[in-house]
Amino acid sequence: MKRNILITGGAGFIGSHVVRLFVGKYPDYRIINLDRLTYAGNLANLRDVENRPNYTFVKGDICDYDAMRSLFAEYDIDGVIHLAAESHVDRSIRDPFTFARTNVMGTLTLLQAAREHWNGAWEGRRFHHISTDEVYGALPFDGTLFTEQTRYDPHSPYSASKASSDHFVRAFHDTYGFPAVVTNCSNNYGPYQFPEKLIPLFINNIRHEKPLPVYGRGENVRDWLYVEDHARAIDTIFHRGRDGETYNIGGFNEWRNIDLIRVIIRTVDRLLGRPEGASEKLITYVTDRAGHDLRYAIDSRKLKEELGWEPSLQFEEGIEKTVRWYLANQEWMDDITSGEYERYYQEMYTGR
Ligand code: NAD
Repeated sequence: MKRNILITGGAGFIGSHVVRLFVGKYPDYRIINLDRLTYAGNLANLRDVENRPNYTFVKGDICDYDAMRSLFAEYDIDGVIHLAAESHVDRSIRDPFTFARTNVMGTLTLLQAAREHWNGAWEGRRFHHISTDEVYGALPFDGTLFTEQTRYDPHSPYSASKASSDHFVRAFHDTYGFPAVVTNCSNNYGPYQFPEKLIPLFINNIRHEKPLPVYGRGENVRDWLYVEDHARAIDTIFHRGRDGETYNIGGFNEWRNIDLIRVIIRTVDRLLGRPEGASEKLITYVTDRAGHDLRYAIDSRKLKEELGWEPSLQFEEGIEKTVRWYLANQEWMDDITSGEYERYYQEMYTGR
């Protein structure tokens, strides 16, 4: 079946994996990747798909209503997978306005443009909004999990902005019958992640024997999912999920930060031929992030029971693949970590 699918934020980390999956798997679909190319957007993430006949890149801002209306009309978009966002919690603490603009107003702008273009003819149309488990707040260390019924309780400007955008998507469904689905996923890891995030940051620092800044005592717990498994879940839900529903996506794979960091250290040291644990000395405890949520953990049973999705990779396998990828793609990392990134890094982690 021919379809015109708009993927927003396709030059970012998760978006680039979703674009790659859809362009390869659905040759009859036309995939339009709309991305503003902020600091986090990088077309080098898509070198292997950029010349495919069913792929088009458009540089643009989801907050630009006129541009979004024109885009829907020009390509006659019938499906949206919306990933464009400001995504880094630390940045949201320093600059919450940018997060409200992109994540809240940008999502609303896109919803309006889609609603106007589809004009009540919802059949065969879908708006899939990609969100995070962070909207649910924090869990105690008692084995409980976030379900689709967990009450929203965001604590950071990032999660507050994502929560707000999720509410707008549901409000569009409830008010207009707009064909929307929301997914809330746990922490992703894998190739092409911007190195301000924990795993690529630490792999790069270990390689260059730089300090590994660990918040607080490293006791916060996160659930980790390999990014290609998230992309597969999006594919499944975009095609077979039910309108108006929320699906949680997670790896049933909880790690304390400090334990995760030790796994990364062991893997990088081994692959670089260093003695076991040689880089443990790089661990540097720093003042905890303000409002740092203790524990996130996702219950993704609904997705498994209803649509048959489950993670494909064991964590050790995923980490090994990830570390190997970053070590083999040093040029990609060097291009990103020059210039602007270096200034941000110095300010964030050394106070200079
Ligand atoms: P990312 O920061 O790597 O990529 C975001 C992309 O959006 C970038 O390419 C950027 O250029 C683009 N963008 C930003 N503002 C834009 C604008 N105004 N108009 C158009 N494009 C714009 O983020 P990511 O980690 O790939 O996350 C993608 C989505 O998934 C986000 O919505 C995020 O909230 C969600 N999510 C991420 C994780 C995770 O672990 N990374 C987990 C759950 C959910």
